[in-house]
Amino acid sequence: MVGQNGCVSEGQRVVVLGGGPGGYEAALVAAQLGADVMVVERDGLGGAAVLTDVVPSKTLIATAEVMALVGESVELGVRFPGGSGPDGAGEREPAGAVSVDLGAVNRRVRALARAQSDDVQARLESEGVRVVRGEGRLDGPGCVAVAQSDGAGAGEERLAADTVLVATGSRPRELADAMPDGERILTWKQLYGLDELPERLVVVGSGVTGAEFANAYNALGADVVLVSSRDRVLPGEDADAAEVLEAVFRRRGMQVLSRSRAQQVKRAGDAVVVTLADGRTVEGSHCLMAVGSIPNTEGIGLAEAGVRLGPSGHVEVDGVSRTSVRGVYAAGDCTGVLPLASVAAMQGRIAMWHSLGDAVSPLDLRRVSSNVFTAPEIAAVGVSHADVEAGRVPGVVVKLPLATNARAKMQGVRDGFVKLVCAPGSGWVLGGVVVAPRASELIFPITVAVTHRLTVDDVAQAFTVYPSLSGSVAEAARQLHAHD
Ligand SMILES: Cc1cc2nc3c(=O)[nH]c(=O)nc-3n(C[C@H](O)[C@H](O)[C@H](O)COP(=O)(O)OP(=O)(O)OC[C@H]3O[C@@H](n4cnc5c(N)ncnc54)[C@H](O)[C@@H]3O)c2cc1C
Repeated sequence: MVGQNGCVSEGQRVVVLGGGPGGYEAALVAAQLGADVMVVERDGLGGAAVLTDVVPSKTLIATAEVMALVGESVELGVRFPGGSGPDGAGEREPAGAVSVDLGAVNRRVRALARAQSDDVQARLESEGVRVVRGEGRLDGPGCVAVAQSDGAGAGEERLAADTVLVATGSRPRELADAMPDGERILTWKQLYGLDELPERLVVVGSGVTGAEFANAYNALGADVVLVSSRDRVLPGEDADAAEVLEAVFRRRGMQVLSRSRAQQVKRAGDAVVVTLADGRTVEGSHCLMAVGSIPNTEGIGLAEAGVRLGPSGHVEVDGVSRTSVRGVYAAGDCTGVLPLASVAAMQGRIAMWHSLGDAVSPLDLRRVSSNVFTAPEIAAVGVSHADVEAGRVPGVVVKLPLATNARAKMQGVRDGFVKLVCAPGSGWVLGGVVVAPRASELIFPITVAVTHRLTVDDVAQAFTVYPSLSGSVAEAARQLHAHD
């Protein structure tokens, strides 16, 4: 059949623009539901999540974690040749005997990301999804035009679609007076080209990305300065958790400059100079700019097709990922709903379930668990302490420091806590925060409780291993018993 704009279509055709988690997870669902599916991707399958953001950063952090463990093992009685113990030195003294080969680390990071991208492509193709390499744009609501520059040369392929999913992601925000040069002034995507550890890394931005890299490079052995325009690091996270992390950062020798807005970053030979709004300057060998992201939504025919964008350029979507145009859906970072790979993937799946007539529930952000991959990690789900304090949600909050947990003592874990929020009266678990090593794993029982409306007594009555950090989750639930 010949569709709009002269595009040829047969059966239910789904065209996904962008092969990140928002796009490829949707493609898998659409293929499972029997649609004829194409994914248009210009760089590599897996998207920025796999190639430059989630996978590389968490691979680098895996090495940083080992370094942090080694550093703290002195306290547990471990001795290193040439290093010293807690008697004569600080907690990170074995670093004299242990160092990181950043070139080798980054080679591993790049290889792992590439392999993961290949795995995603292979999986899609094995499910019958056609991968179209090139730069795509909407040509009206029912057609995606793809500019291809590989193989036989430049050309354009036009793909008819009953459903289009826009999942084009986002990219680092750049400031006019702090333009990355790819050598010493870097975005987070450019860090993996470094062969040597920066002597002094200035990280501009103390949101999740800035905090994760500041923590990782500090653990790897670099001198790190964290420049934050806000009162504290991680302004979007639980305030108690951010306070713990900032104290840990300072204890580990990181310089944290709060209420310090970076106005300009310039190269000065082999150095960088960061000028703050109040005129102070901070020097470093390298600077990482982590000042947020902007959506990849311009120049791809969205406005022309009638797709409504918000003031920040994000695609406006409803709970089932519909845009303002029938048949056009959007998922992931280009929507600005919540910049997480897990949320992007769920938005994409929901779009396909809705579009292809399967059972579907709208996206529920209260069930999303998230994690900041620092040491300690900070994981959270559901209703926040701030929601309760501001009176947005009635709730009772309990916070249990890990310092009293036997397993934590054995492992030398001093920092962290478990926080639970429950509904007064019913005792339903509404949310929680875990600040601990591997908090990303410990948050799961709380996520299950929030998702399935378990009460604090349900959680408290489940056995936990003794000794274990998860024992503190059950103990926090026990302390909330009076409120159910
Ligand atoms: C440093 C960092 C660490 C992160 N860590 C985590 C984490 O640990 N956990 C987590 O859940 N989230 C994490 N995130 C967030 C996560 O990376 C994003 O939420 C996720 O990538 C969003 O997926 P997406 O599919 O919307 O976009 P992307 O992953 O950005 O994919 C979009 C794809 O679309 C392609 N594209 C764009 N325009 C076109 C076009 N016109 N034609 C063809 N292709 C196009 C791009 O090439 C890209 O491949 C992190 C982000 C950063 C920056």
